[in-house]
Formats: sequence, C-alpha cells, structure tokens
Amino acid sequence: MDYRDLANLIFPDAKEISYYEEKYPKRNLKEGAIVTRYAPSPTGVMHIGGLYQGLIAKKMAEQTEGVFFVRIEDTDQKREIEEGTSKIITALNEFGLKPDEGLISDSEEVGNYGPYKQSKRKEIYQAYAKYLIEQGKAYPCFCTTEEGEEIRKKQEEAKIRPGYYGVWAKCRNNTVEEMAEKIKQGKNYIIRFKSPGREDKKIKHKDIIKGNVEFPENDQDIVIIKADGLPTYHFAHIVDDHLMGTTHVIRGDEWLSSVPLHLQLFYELGFKAPKYAHIAPIMKNDNGNKRKLSKRKDPEAAVSYYEEEGIPEKAVKEYLLNIANSSFENWRRANPDKDVSEFELQLNKMGVSGALFDMIKLLDVSKTVISKLTAKEVYEEALKWAIKYDEELQKLLSNKEYSLKVLGIERGNKKPRKDISKWSEVKENIDYMYDEIFLEKEHKYPYQVINQKGDIDKILDIYIEKYYNEADDKQTWFDKIKELAQELGYAKEVKEFKENPEKYKAHVGDVSTVLRVALTSRTNTPDMYEIMQVLGKDSIKKRFEKAK
Ligand code: GLU
Repeated sequence: MDYRDLANLIFPDAKEISYYEEKYPKRNLKEGAIVTRYAPSPTGVMHIGGLYQGLIAKKMAEQTEGVFFVRIEDTDQKREIEEGTSKIITALNEFGLKPDEGLISDSEEVGNYGPYKQSKRKEIYQAYAKYLIEQGKAYPCFCTTEEGEEIRKKQEEAKIRPGYYGVWAKCRNNTVEEMAEKIKQGKNYIIRFKSPGREDKKIKHKDIIKGNVEFPENDQDIVIIKADGLPTYHFAHIVDDHLMGTTHVIRGDEWLSSVPLHLQLFYELGFKAPKYAHIAPIMKNDNGNKRKLSKRKDPEAAVSYYEEEGIPEKAVKEYLLNIANSSFENWRRANPDKDVSEFELQLNKMGVSGALFDMIKLLDVSKTVISKLTAKEVYEEALKWAIKYDEELQKLLSNKEYSLKVLGIERGNKKPRKDISKWSEVKENIDYMYDEIFLEKEHKYPYQVINQKGDIDKILDIYIEKYYNEADDKQTWFDKIKELAQELGYAKEVKEFKENPEKYKAHVGDVSTVLRVALTSRTNTPDMYEIMQVLGKDSIKKRFEKAK
C-alpha cells in the first residue's frame, strides 16, 4: 500500500490533474496584462469595500488589456444567504463592473475557464487533493470534533499556539496502512494539507500595496477538503487562481496574514504564485475614532444605500478612485471632461492603511458628475429612481416636455448648475417650478430689502402689465427690470445706489429679489430669466396674484 493506493481509495473517480491543466491552457495575453478577479462569498449584502475591490480589479485588468473575472466563493454553504449570488451580480451590474469572464447572472456565466462558482468545481478540487495525497502532501484526518476541542483546550491551558500542527497533528503520523484501514472501517474524515513549514523560520514577501512583509512560515496542517467533500477557501482559491491564470490577487488585507499559507500551497502544488495586492479597508471617522466602515452601524457601508439614495454609480466609482489614488483628484482637475477610463490607477500608490470615507466629498463629486449630464440624462435617471422610490417625483416628471425644460435651466453651458448631488434631491430642487404644486401650497415669502406689501404689489403689477414680454432676450429682459426700478424710484444700477444711498429706497437687485421671491418663494434660485422662460406668462401672472 502506498500513497497512490491511498489516493485512489479516497478519490477513486477523480481525474488526473493533467486533464485540467490541458483543459485550461495558459492565457495568451500581451506582456504585462493583468488577469485578476473579484471573488466574493455570497454570505451577506454587498459592502462598499467589495465594490471598491471589484472596481480596482476591473480597472487594473482594463488598463493592461488583461482579464477581469468574477468568481463566486460559495464553499462555506452554512454561511450562504438566500440569493447571495444574484445580489452580488446585480450590484456589480448596477455599478457597471461587468466582468470579462465569470458569472453574469445567478445561473449564467461567460468565459473558458469556468465554472466560476466554486460549488460547481468540486471534482476539480478533488483531483488536486488527490494529487497532493499521491505525493504524501495531504492526508485524511480522522479526528472527531470532540478530539479537536480537546486539543484546543490543552493548547489553551498550556498557553501555546492553537491549531493542528507539529505534535498536535495526530493524524499526520498514521501510516498509509492505518489510514486505509480506518477508511475501510467507514470512519469519517477530512483531508488535511501536510505542511512542510516551520514556525521558527521566516518568509519574506513583497506585497504590491503593503510593501515588504515578513511572517513566520505556515506550519498548520489546514483542512483542504471538508467532510461534505467541498474544499475550504484556502485550497479552492489556490486551485482556481492557478487554473484561471490569475496574475494578480487583489483583495482585502484581512487576508495578508494568510499569505504564508497560500504561498506554501502554491509551491507544494507546483504552481507559480500570483502577485498580491492587499487593499486596506475603507474607514470612517466616528467621533474622532478611525474605524472600519461597518455593515451593522453605517448605512453607507451597504452598496444598496447608494442606489436607494439616488447617488449615481458614476459618482460613487469616481469617489472610490479618489480614495484609491490620491493623484486622482489632480488628474480630474486637469482633465475635467475625460472619462475615468483614461486615468491610470497605480496599485503601488494605494494607501497602506485605510482611507477615510467622506460622504460630503462624495456628494460633491456627485454634484459635479450630475452637472455634466444633459437635461435628458438627468430626466431619465431621476425618473428611473423615482419609479422605484418616490411617487410624487414620478408624477411631476410624467410631464416630460415641461420637466425637460425645468431640468434644462442653466445646464449644457460652460458653468452648469451644480445643485443636485443625488436623485432624491431632485424633487425639492424643482418642485416649485410646477404650478400644480406651487400654486396649491401656502408659502412664506422671504422678501428682503423691499418687504412692504404696497411696494411689492406695485412691482409685481407694473412689471407684468408693462414690462414682461416672453419674446425678450436676456439683455432686453434685464434692461426692462432696470426701467421698472427707475420708474418706481429705485436705483437702476447697484453702483448708483452705492454712490448715493440716501437718494434711493433700494436698487434694481432688490427689485429682482421681489420678482424672484414672488415667483418661487425662494431667495436663491437658478437664473431668473430662464425660470420665467420656462414658466411662461400665464404661470407668472398666477404666481404674482398668489403672492399679493
Ligand atoms: N472569498 C474571499 C472573500 O470573500 C475572497 C478572498 C480572495 O479574494 O482571495 O473574502
């Protein structure tokens, strides 16, 4: 009886690994092309940190004409949540992180290196586990849960490192015959990796983000195949990244300390290890304390938050690139109109420790993003959001022609309006432009310098009767407000007023404010000429009557 016989006894049907090595040939890509992946486990709602990883991975692949693939790591089926996979795929699609390969829906995938869902790759992992057993690098472990508990207790009492290693790794010393005998007796077992490492030796590793790191070697005989026949994450992802041709593993830095184990597995399997880039988590300032963004405490940690709030995906992505590389901000300033795909992300310029998430900054980025959209684009996006989340806004927008005019105010020019940061703000931003809302509501009119009813009524009456003409261009329109001011004894120019304040009650700007407040019940609005153009004479008249 030798290792080969043992391997055959354990996995009689597993194929030779050469079968898979041929089935998944080396990729033929240009020099420097990065093949990388986003490999989430479907165990919870998608976290902004996951989106961040996915975005960076996709960007690096895109930038180097490589491959970005999505692999679902669902081998821990106890922790899987309902529709976990489809939630991830939907979120990725919403954020435009379509993979070149991998899952594109819960049940469909593209690419030649699949399946891209680990639970569908059981046979592959078993073939590689068999291969390790054949070489004496893996073995069946028959320890029961109780025995495992006992080991742990003893280690705790003796205050030594926990785990299955060295003298504690009882089953690694069984002879092949003993192992075979127990299997034949029908004993339950799992498969463990036989680690050749020593804790008192160090390994050095260069991480693209974290730089040089040094760790003790791994000496744990970790589980590679569990009792249910499925692999553990550690083993599965090594096999996958090898067969899928991953050149760069870009993932959260909670995995950094597993690098010694992972490198050892690659080495013992005879595979070339990929490069690693471990990303620091996104942090939050919590009353002066820096902590990780938490799914439990922070609504903005969930990717769904952005869609619910109506923050455009483009803005979220752009903000995440800001966090990823501090040079992004300067690049954006120098290239305000370029597509983000032209920005070259550098993994080695990412922060070693976690960047702070700043919602104010994100909303500011979002304002700029939205300011660059056309009225039609704003209309369509806001409507899409409203259909899901805001019936009243949807109703307003159902008047498409008028809404396009409203949204078109101060848009499409060199300095477009920058007053919307999310779709959930659109309603309060534009609702006063709709007569069905404005004329129905009671308003507090915040008049300023000119605030006496008699003066206000006079301005409104004379303006609409004598001066307002829809056909006027902007200059004529403004000249007429000046004339109105003059007629009523206000200074025609602000300058004039400043030079002789005692001569006038107020100036043309104050007259304009009266018009603005009467029209909108706001002191701060976009360009009043455009507002009047959109409202039309009929509405202006009604608004003035209401204000009087
Ligand atoms: N499935 C692992 C996780 O969700 C992925 C780690 C990796 O990218 O290797 O954290």
